[in-house]
Amino acid sequence: MNPETIVALSTPAGRGGIGIVRLSGSEAARIAAPLVKLRHELAAGQARFGQLVDEDGGTLDEVVVTLFAAPHSYTGEDVVEVAAHGSPVVLDAIVRRCLASGARLARPGEFTERAFLAGRMDLTQAEAVNDLIHAQTLHQAQLAAQQMEGALSRRIQPIKQAVVELIAELEAGIDFAEDDMDVMPATAIAQKLAVARTALAELSAGYTYGRMVRDGITLAIVGRPNVGKSSLFNRLVEHERAIVTASPGTTRDTISHTVAIHGIPVELMDTAGLRETADEAEELGVARSREAMADAAIVLLVLDASAPPHSEDAALRAKLADRPHLIVANKCDLANATAHNAANELHASALTGAGIEDLRQAILRLAGGGALHTESGLVTTLRQHEAIQSALDATERAESAATQQTPHEMLLLDAYTALRSLDALTGATTADDVLSLIFSRFCIGK
Ligand code: GDP
Repeated sequence: MNPETIVALSTPAGRGGIGIVRLSGSEAARIAAPLVKLRHELAAGQARFGQLVDEDGGTLDEVVVTLFAAPHSYTGEDVVEVAAHGSPVVLDAIVRRCLASGARLARPGEFTERAFLAGRMDLTQAEAVNDLIHAQTLHQAQLAAQQMEGALSRRIQPIKQAVVELIAELEAGIDFAEDDMDVMPATAIAQKLAVARTALAELSAGYTYGRMVRDGITLAIVGRPNVGKSSLFNRLVEHERAIVTASPGTTRDTISHTVAIHGIPVELMDTAGLRETADEAEELGVARSREAMADAAIVLLVLDASAPPHSEDAALRAKLADRPHLIVANKCDLANATAHNAANELHASALTGAGIEDLRQAILRLAGGGALHTESGLVTTLRQHEAIQSALDATERAESAATQQTPHEMLLLDAYTALRSLDALTGATTADDVLSLIFSRFCIGK
């Protein structure tokens, strides 16, 4: 148990309808008591109405105070929430008096850290709390909520279990070899590892999509003047009413807008107008256009379907060959519109909106590494992905060692590496976990 009781304003700073000060720790109720005059005593899980009083007993505000008793609280400790009106001076006074009565100001994320330390949630769930708070689209929030509720942990748990079981088997086989223990046959070991490997590979593959949802993508619209880049940009922006943020471009002539395409934040960068100015500026413009192209995850090359193929288009296309890109033939509404390149070309009209939905889908497919995922429990952060990848590598090494009759001591090293990587993801497996499994499964010595 943590000896210190912490306090913080849990609602955003500034004026609002209500503001909540949260206390967590064994002293929470004692510290809150002199601040308020309640009609009824605090009781776990019950909201109590009362007056916030100053040191002289004068009323400062009307408040609702709620006690969440340990262990059934967010942090697993006693938690007291004081909900006052959202007046910064009043809320500040509450925090100050809590500090004067022995509470300490909470560090950023400390309530959630305590929840993790108390075993109320694992690391992936704790990370998801932050993702949920920072979500820009509802889809991001949904993904974070699934993870907060344990979706990723639920996918990792059976893998971890299989690895721990394997470790227990191997440890027992080594430690008690002279006791005539049946050692697991190599094929059975390899089979167990293969199951873990497959599950880990699936998790790893989902990262492309998970990262895209969490972090969003950038898309640069490029092409010759007048092909309709700005019109397409506007169409993509206006078509999706849920504009997340509108920010000035990173470079002066590049306009950028973040829109939500099916819940994925996509930062569109329009490099329009770059080549329509005088020479010197044109040079600058071209440089900026290149910059935007270099930064973007995806480049959208716009062609004019009503104009004959142009050598500049071919040059741009060649430049994009080894990068994720899409080619769209715009102005397909015009009578003289023809395809430039039947293979991987989309057709659209920024004017009529034809083909725009296909374009949106194509953007998401390209960014998400193929199919649109619907599974829950996706790996969304680099930290998670690296842990999964490291567990996957170790599992693959162990698997090939198992099939080559490598001594079990070597196999164990890889199995432990895999376990430690998974531990880094969700929280630690203790030596006791492994030991109790060994002894529960083998009944050694009776
Ligand atoms: P940019 O220089 O590449 O950004 O091109 P603009 O978006 O400024 O468009 C150039 C011209 O083409 C404008 O007159 C637009 O109205 C027109 N235009 C853009 N898209 C379409 C389209 O899909 N169909 C037709 N018919 N005209 C379009």
